[in-house]
Amino acid sequence: MMNFLPIIYDDEILFSVISRYKQMCGMVSKQALEEDLFNQRRNMNTSVLFPQEINTLVQNFPPNSQVTVREVIINQTLYPFYTAFLSEQRSEEIYRGMAKGHGKGFVNLLGIAGSKIKTNDLLKFCPSCLHDDMEHLGESYWRRLHQIPGALYCIKHQVSLRNSKIIITDSRVDFYCADEDVCPDQNEENIYPPIIQDLNLTYIRNASFLLSENQKRKDLTFIINFYIDQLREKGFASKVGSVYIKELLEAFVQFYPSQYLELMQSSIDVDKETNWVRLFIRNNNKNRSPLRHLLFMQFLGIDVKELFEVETVTGKQTIQHERAPHLELDKKRKEWLKLIQDNLGASRSKLKNIGKALHTWLYVNDRPWYDKVTPIEIVKRKRKESIDWEKRDNECLLLANKAVEMLMKKEGKPIRIIPSNIRRVIGVRRWFHHKKLVKTGKYLKEITEDLESYRIRKINWAIDELKQQEGSITVYKIQLYAGFGGSNRESKQLIEKVLIKVDLLKENQ
Ligand SMILES: [Zn+2]
Repeated sequence: MMNFLPIIYDDEILFSVISRYKQMCGMVSKQALEEDLFNQRRNMNTSVLFPQEINTLVQNFPPNSQVTVREVIINQTLYPFYTAFLSEQRSEEIYRGMAKGHGKGFVNLLGIAGSKIKTNDLLKFCPSCLHDDMEHLGESYWRRLHQIPGALYCIKHQVSLRNSKIIITDSRVDFYCADEDVCPDQNEENIYPPIIQDLNLTYIRNASFLLSENQKRKDLTFIINFYIDQLREKGFASKVGSVYIKELLEAFVQFYPSQYLELMQSSIDVDKETNWVRLFIRNNNKNRSPLRHLLFMQFLGIDVKELFEVETVTGKQTIQHERAPHLELDKKRKEWLKLIQDNLGASRSKLKNIGKALHTWLYVNDRPWYDKVTPIEIVKRKRKESIDWEKRDNECLLLANKAVEMLMKKEGKPIRIIPSNIRRVIGVRRWFHHKKLVKTGKYLKEITEDLESYRIRKINWAIDELKQQEGSITVYKIQLYAGFGGSNRESKQLIEKVLIKVDLLKENQ
């Protein structure tokens, strides 16, 4: 039984409360203390961050104490952080382990034994918190938020956390208060670049939400589906939810500097099949560190709160067509059949062009039906058909006309009017120059812009553009703007010629 219970400070870890009790009582022997608190000499692992047998401890609190087992686990341990992304059931199992005692396998239960994310070897502290505490409380204490894996900063003072001398990975560790003896004044300034500070402060804010506010739990499947939804929304997954892994990985390593990923024990090799991001979004039952959940969500620009507030998720959609409401499905099917009827003989790609939105919808939501009813391209038979060349010539001429019109109207730097550019606008290949397309061929020949005309057009455009800007219009500026390069004598002369012409025109107006 304890004689009294020290005031428990905000966000104080249980180890710290016990350490202060020990100091206040002037107890020297750790064994005697543990007998008082846990009714036994515990040479089994007394974990600083993951204490067990809290039931016994709370029973040994002084009779007037109001503190419950639940309060100790929720407020004085890292339980809320480490179980945040585990199922309700698993969280409860861990909770029971902490309350009743689970023994040596407890770290396995938590999922941190085999985890790539190691806890810090030493307790961490913030020098400013230490200083403030000493001033206001006359003592200091160990804070939970500082012990979170990946926490590099104190959120309150925005200074980097320091290592104390207290080794927590040693199970024989004694109880030490946070004071100047074990928290050396290292006088280092903030040792990380500003971008890392920003990233890490966001990380800690999210971690703090898990630690101090969140009580909700979601199953892993729900979480993965939530990720798929978010990836889809951000363009990293298709409508049905297959992830564009290459793009995703590239964006990820662009978002996080490699130094930061290293500090967070989460470096990735984009090319490696087994890099953690790849494995992370797969629906396997592997344990995922809360640190990586937070990293991943931060990358997606999601506040961790969102995950716990969302009620429904979609995830991958394997049986899509069953999800579409029947009325809408019927309507779309009818529309598509009519479109096929109205364009008999049209290829798939042509039908797609005619009814783009409809095509996309059916392709995604009703693929088997789409495949059944939509004619397959029969290229060979088409070629054998006799072709009405005159009709085709007229059609092509019209297309070419339109394309030229579009090219001339196009904003930005002028594009030269030549057959290849015209073909590009229409989206046709070289068959466009078939010798039987007489009128089209003639038109293409006539309309082709010679180099000098094209250059003059570019110069005129550059002059117009430069007029919109401040400063004088010089030959050199026009040269650069039109993309001629600065040392081309021929183009220089041409520009001068155009300038004179423009000025003359002005005088005449
Ligand atoms: Zn601080």
